[in-house]
Amino acid sequence: KTKLGPSVITEYLQRVVEDLREVEGGAVKDSIPALANADPNPIGIAVATVDGAIYQAGDSKQEFCIQSISKAFTYAQALTDRGMDGVFEKIDVEPSGDAFNEISLQPETGRPANPMINAGAIAATSLVKNTAHGTRRERILRLYSRLAGRQLRINKTIHAQENRSGDRNRALGWLLSSRDIIEGDPTNALEDYFAQCSVMLNCVDLARMGATLAAGGVNPLSGERVLSTQVVSDVLSVMYTCGMYDDAGRWALKVGLPAKSGVAGGIIAVLPGQLAVAVFSPPLDQHGNSVRGVAACERLSQDLDLHFARTE
Ligand code: GLU
Repeated sequence: KTKLGPSVITEYLQRVVEDLREVEGGAVKDSIPALANADPNPIGIAVATVDGAIYQAGDSKQEFCIQSISKAFTYAQALTDRGMDGVFEKIDVEPSGDAFNEISLQPETGRPANPMINAGAIAATSLVKNTAHGTRRERILRLYSRLAGRQLRINKTIHAQENRSGDRNRALGWLLSSRDIIEGDPTNALEDYFAQCSVMLNCVDLARMGATLAAGGVNPLSGERVLSTQVVSDVLSVMYTCGMYDDAGRWALKVGLPAKSGVAGGIIAVLPGQLAVAVFSPPLDQHGNSVRGVAACERLSQDLDLHFARTE
């Protein structure tokens, strides 16, 4: 909503990064060696607009793994392949208030509460089709790449580590299978879920993916329609209510933007019709959200007047 010149915005983002260095606390995730050994210090930020402009500061080109941010985009592919009714039959859209890896299957239906926690995300991955145009994994990677506007890659080392430490997710996969949310053996879906979590990108990529959502599914740079407006609106709605783990309610109040975080320290936040913000800083709070990433988004939301519910 604020009209500012390009250099003013870049300088502003640089100032935000400098101020974030003073923000302490949090710890890097220790679930896999690649995360446990990550340097906690980098701070990257990027803002991409629906006009194709990009503003960035700090370590905005440093790569990290997408982790749970992937859940929003794979859900978009599942919706594209199966339609909302087909997906809703298998995955509900209610915020759970639970941790990301909670065993949350509804007693009557066996449906996971929503697609942004692991149970729902693994189910969403299983709903992406293998087609003549590519395997499920290839189609997921292609979607992410088209949203970002460049070819993204799976980090094989991280994929192997996710696989080795994935017993809880495997247990979720078999529970989903026992309730026919996933049909048959969930092993392939789990493999693909681990692969999607291991896609590498930087803040610029993530901001551009968000800007494609902000632009209703058309990549502002390539002009390509990547997702339908209906799918984008469904995904952003679920990101708004469920995207920030069990901190989603507070986030909605403080930041007021659809968002998704991942345990590598990335956060994406989208202002529909306008822009997307991507932040990267590895130390996480007790919910699993980047401490500095949350601080950055709260600040940007205030300074740039991004909260959807603000009326003046
Ligand atoms: N690969 C992680 C898991 O499934 C993703 C966690 C996250 O980013 O929230 O446990």
